[in-house]
Amino acid sequence: MKKLLSIAACMAALSATAQIDSAQLLKDVQTLSADKMEGRRTGTKGNRMAQFYLLDRFREAGLQQFHNTYEQAFFFNSRGSRIMGTNLYGYIKGKVDSFIVISAHYDHIGTRAQSAGTDSIYNGADDNASGVAGLLAMARYFSQRPPKHTLIFAAFDAEETGLQGAKDFSARLPVPAARIILNINMDMISHSDKRELYVCGTYHYPFLKPFINTVAAGSPIRLLTGHDRPEDGGNDWTGQSDHHVFHLRKIPFLYFGVEDHPDYHKVTDEFSTIHPSFFYQAARSVLEVVKKIDERG
Ligand SMILES: [Zn+2]
Repeated sequence: MKKLLSIAACMAALSATAQIDSAQLLKDVQTLSADKMEGRRTGTKGNRMAQFYLLDRFREAGLQQFHNTYEQAFFFNSRGSRIMGTNLYGYIKGKVDSFIVISAHYDHIGTRAQSAGTDSIYNGADDNASGVAGLLAMARYFSQRPPKHTLIFAAFDAEETGLQGAKDFSARLPVPAARIILNINMDMISHSDKRELYVCGTYHYPFLKPFINTVAAGSPIRLLTGHDRPEDGGNDWTGQSDHHVFHLRKIPFLYFGVEDHPDYHKVTDEFSTIHPSFFYQAARSVLEVVKKIDERG
C-alpha cells in the first residue's frame, strides 16, 4: 500500500511539472468531439454546448477578460439566413506592451441526414477539437508561468463558413493591430500516419524560421515548414484557416496543421481515429515554438 501511495505521489508530481497534461489534452478533444456536441456547427445547440465547456476551461485557466466577458457575438449571412456566431477569448498578461494571439476554431460542420442506423455526426475531433485542446493546454501552461508578451487565447467560431469569426475578431480587435507581433493558429494537429506536422507561414515571414528549426531539431515528430508558397497552388494553405485574416493585416502568422487525411470532413473524424502520441508531441512542439518566440521575439 505504501509503495502504491508513493507511486501515486510520484505520478502527481510528474503531472504537476509536465508542460502539458496529456490526459487533460485528450479529455478536451474527447469532450468537444462527443456525439452530444452534434458537430458544433455555428448557431446550433451543439455549438453552444461546446461554448459552455470552453468557458469553464477558460475560467479554470484563469484567463482574464476584455470588457468583463469572454464572449463576443457577431452576425453573418450564409445561404440566405442570418446566423449568430460567438468568438471566445481572454488573455494572460505579460510584462511588455505587445501581444501574441493564439487561435483555434471550435466550430465544425454539424450533422447530415443519413439513412437510419448510419452515423450522421461530423464530430470534428481533429478538425478542430485538437487545435482547441492545444490552445487550452497552452493557456494552462502560461497561467502557471507568466509570459513576456500578453497572450490572447481566441477560440474562433464559424471558421467552416468562411473564417467568419476570425474576420469579426480582426474587424474589432481588442488591442491595437500594430502591437500584435504574431498569430499562432492551430487547425488539425492530431492525425498523421507519417507523424508530420506542417508549419505554414515562414515563406511570408522568414524571420520566424529559425525558431521552427530549433524546435524541429529536438522534436520526436517531423515538424516541417511549407504549404505557404503561391506556386504551391491548392497546397498553399496561406488562405485556408483563420491565420489568413492576420496575414491580410500584415500581422505575421504561423499556422500548424496536418495534411488532409481520409477522415477529413468525414463522420469518421472522431476521437477514436486521432493519434494520441502524435497529438501530444504536436501540442508540445507548438508550445515550444510559442515559448521561444515569446522569450526572444
Ligand atoms: Zn478546421
